[in-house]
Amino acid sequence: MKARILCILLIALLIAAVPASAEVTYEVFVRAFADSDGDGVGDLKGLMRKLDYLSELGVDSLWLMPVFPSPSYHGYDVTDYRSINPEYGTMEDLEALLADAHSRGMAVILDLPINHTSIDHPWFRERPEFYRWADERANLDLRVWGEKVWKPYGDTWYYAIFWDGMPDLDYENPDVRDEMIDIALYWLDMGVDGFRLDAASHIYGMGEWSARQEIERSASWWVEFQIACVAKNPNCYLLGEAWESLDKRAALLAGLDAAVNFDVGGAIIALLRTGGSGKGYVRNLALTYAAYAEVRPGIPDAPFLTNHDQNRVYAALGAKPERAKMAANMLLTLPGNPILYYGEEIGMMGAKPDEEIRTPMLWGGGDRSETRWHPSIYNTRTLTVAEQDADPDSLLNHYRRLLAFRRAHPALTGGEFDAADVGNDIVAAYALSTPEERALIIHNATAVQQETAEGVIPACTSLIVVDGERWTFP
Ligand code: CA
Repeated sequence: MKARILCILLIALLIAAVPASAEVTYEVFVRAFADSDGDGVGDLKGLMRKLDYLSELGVDSLWLMPVFPSPSYHGYDVTDYRSINPEYGTMEDLEALLADAHSRGMAVILDLPINHTSIDHPWFRERPEFYRWADERANLDLRVWGEKVWKPYGDTWYYAIFWDGMPDLDYENPDVRDEMIDIALYWLDMGVDGFRLDAASHIYGMGEWSARQEIERSASWWVEFQIACVAKNPNCYLLGEAWESLDKRAALLAGLDAAVNFDVGGAIIALLRTGGSGKGYVRNLALTYAAYAEVRPGIPDAPFLTNHDQNRVYAALGAKPERAKMAANMLLTLPGNPILYYGEEIGMMGAKPDEEIRTPMLWGGGDRSETRWHPSIYNTRTLTVAEQDADPDSLLNHYRRLLAFRRAHPALTGGEFDAADVGNDIVAAYALSTPEERALIIHNATAVQQETAEGVIPACTSLIVVDGERWTFP
């Protein structure tokens, strides 16, 4: 009898340990999020203490920006792929975070920048064959984004597409491939649920092959990587960063579960700032999903408003709360796996340089976990979590309502997508449907009311009709 109870308990534990899915992902800059030990630098323990906040917000998955040792504040130049940055904590802290997140049905994915390492990574001296060195075919004058990609080093040159401090790895070397797969399996073994793959389209750098070959070779690497990851964890989620045209993104999806979509956030911001055709916005979504469907079933899209490399959406929308709410309406009624960037839900401000778009999360209310790593020059009037908590009309509570609504309606997340005709091309209208449910979604992003076949929709408002029941989100 005892054995049987134990067995049931074990099964229950196992079920609880399986994360729901990577439905809505929350991008966290650990350094900026929450501090546990009073040194002013965010850390994993601090993040763990905020899991109540994150599950109440209603996100399903956390994407941690790089947590590995690195000489930079941002961590995208890694010096050791198998350890935790000591400023952020220990391996035990990560294991505790994983256990706590999983007990809430929340997944955790790690940012894995493996296109390049830090130039301070020991490999650069000990395993030079891991990197790309100029041979007689190399065009040493080749420029990408205005910079020469071949960097002088002694009497030779190495390839570094982003900057001198981040030499690109050579994925023609099978030892590099094996090493990177081993690293991924190491973290999956620990219970990590997947990876956000930095610079996924640059695995084969620009200039040595044709543009088409570069993408094909990068895609074939991700296929190899995904096969290995899925063999370890069938639910492993691979999210690729590809700031590329639609055809290139689609090609890379051969080895990814989703690609981040830089176009859709820009389109939402443009509609809200300058107006335009909602019908055109919907047509572009349909084209995107159709291109993806040729490579991978479902809607393997990860839309977002802005991320850690872009001016914050609240700033881009002129710090107007009604526009920020509308942008959230549009993002969180898209199919696929939307991503929120930390602080977006409270309207944090920020514009380049990068440090200013990665500033401390504003908890307020005397919360000592607020970090001090880089005090913001832009967030002088931003309302904190504590202040917004108390106001039912706050942006934060708007995000909470939307996320709860999304969770309650499966058609919104994985349904079939179809443009809808509601007799008005200014509004963005589409339907999402599953066999059980059909949702009609109409966004009026303009500053005036719009007449539609579903009635008048007030300015800056979304109407959602699910099987005849109507909801409006102002
Ligand atoms: Ca700390």
